[in-house]
Amino acid sequence: MIKELVRDEIKDLTPYVVVPKEEAKKIILDGNENPYQMPLEIMEKFTERLLQMELNRYPDAGCNNLRKKIASYLGQGINAEQILVGNGSDEVLQHLVQTFIQPNEKVLCLQPTFSMYKVFTKIGGGILVGFQLEEDGTLDLNNFWQAVKRVQPKMIFLCSPNNPTGGKIPLLTIAEIVKEFKGILVVDEAYGEFCQDSIISMLDQFPNLCVTRTFSKAIGLAGIRLGYLVGNKPLIQEVKKVILPYNVNAISQMMGEVILDNESLIRERVEKILEERERLRSLLEQHNGWYVYPSEANFLFLRGKDIPALANSFEEVGIQIRKFSGDFKDAIRITVGTPEENDQVCRVVLSFIERGEKNGTQM
Ligand code: PMP
Repeated sequence: MIKELVRDEIKDLTPYVVVPKEEAKKIILDGNENPYQMPLEIMEKFTERLLQMELNRYPDAGCNNLRKKIASYLGQGINAEQILVGNGSDEVLQHLVQTFIQPNEKVLCLQPTFSMYKVFTKIGGGILVGFQLEEDGTLDLNNFWQAVKRVQPKMIFLCSPNNPTGGKIPLLTIAEIVKEFKGILVVDEAYGEFCQDSIISMLDQFPNLCVTRTFSKAIGLAGIRLGYLVGNKPLIQEVKKVILPYNVNAISQMMGEVILDNESLIRERVEKILEERERLRSLLEQHNGWYVYPSEANFLFLRGKDIPALANSFEEVGIQIRKFSGDFKDAIRITVGTPEENDQVCRVVLSFIERGEKNGTQM
């Protein structure tokens, strides 16, 4: 009976599934999280601030202090009025769809890309159309334009660096697109801190451009669910209309403020993760049974005939990596872990390669 009452758009969706914590493997490299726990000194700062909080009161509805700190963290002339905070960037992505997409309007995104664009579009009654990336994960601008002309989307999601492939879209390409496009261009920079440049530097030139970012990846606070939208004030003013009152809880706001007062920690960890990513890459590239995509993020995407067997080898030793289905069942995504975790990954890869050589097979 309930099923009959459900909206058509929701009926065939499936809830977002993650491996339950109690079933999680020893080494978790499937969520693109930061592998490092907050240092004790930061945890102590959280605790000091927590002890002074009035949790019987609603939080600051406008996240005013946090927005100021995000603006100064971003630099590039961004001010607090250009920022809107949400429960993870997931929430702000959904707000964008709620604000701009009417039933049956089209939304264009890359393929493969972050799965939630499809879900948010569907919930909002829109229609998501995917644009296939090239074999090496790059975007062919001419073909992309053909797709934009054909589909006539109201909104485009560009994920850069892209999850799961890891490649970034050159800023000039994004600028070319937004210059001509008449709808809303959302650039998802969830992994933005892992690469050098950001389209935020060009925001002031394009009223229909906006950027989403998160505290879950480079900043290392996935557990507190904080993300934000950066855009020009007229766009932010519209999106503000759909957020729930007091959407971001006081504890997450406080923790976000504390971490942004300790920016050097974020940078040090990003450096370490990038070093480790290159160490993993150089090992993985020694084998020709898979292709390692160029990555500007904290993960590597591999594709090839040996990948299903490699995925089994990881699972056998308790390393949780991200597998895919359908067209990408020959692909996995590995998040860069701590040096110790990456050592374990290297051990599995080396023994996989050695086994193949011993069997005399071209793996
Ligand atoms: N965008 C991308 C590309 C992601 O990979 C993720 C999380 N995996 C998100 C957005 C959402 O992140 P959060 O809600 O934790 O900010």
